[in-house]
Amino acid sequence: MTIIKHPLVQHNLTRLRDKTTEPQEFRRVLSEVAALMLYEATRSFKVRSVTVDTPLARARGFQLQREVVLVPVLRAGLGMLDSILQLLPYARVGFIGLKRQETTFEAMFYHKSLPPDLSAFEVILIDPMLATGGSAVAAMNLLTDLDVKRVCMVNLVAAPEGIRRVRQHYPDLPIFTAAVDSELNEKGYILPGLGDAGDRLFGV
Ligand code: URA
Repeated sequence: MTIIKHPLVQHNLTRLRDKTTEPQEFRRVLSEVAALMLYEATRSFKVRSVTVDTPLARARGFQLQREVVLVPVLRAGLGMLDSILQLLPYARVGFIGLKRQETTFEAMFYHKSLPPDLSAFEVILIDPMLATGGSAVAAMNLLTDLDVKRVCMVNLVAAPEGIRRVRQHYPDLPIFTAAVDSELNEKGYILPGLGDAGDRLFGV
């Protein structure tokens, strides 16, 4: 588990927590913080050595070894997608739509579109909020069925309950977050959190 304490990440997270931050600004700041978090999340990506010819001489360098698949969890994951795609323009994008049952908080799929075999890819699962962990575990179960070998998860804010649940099922999954908050409320929202990330993004 990596908590990204970089001042720019923390500054932006605070802007997002602030209830007076309107959707237009929320979208911009979430997008910015996602790009900053990506640097940390991709630090362990495998590279291979290559040589290139500069206009003057031969240089040794590196190339990413694996193609990347980004998997935003709908809706809120969309708020982090564009800026990550700017940095990984050749990445493929799969989508997972999950909704929580009101009473049990269990995650149910309403949409899945992913490449059929993920074994050769670096996969980044993107969801701003890791709350109960139900969606994260359901998403990871699906990715595991598709034979994912290298995967990490990027969550702007995580709740201890969600981390525990993910850890029970996926003890080795690298999780990158900007904050581990105190707890969930009775409706499954993170406290202090930032509210419903999808609603804040889209002004619903
Ligand atoms: N999803 C959100 O958008 N916010 C929370 O606090 C929990 C889940």
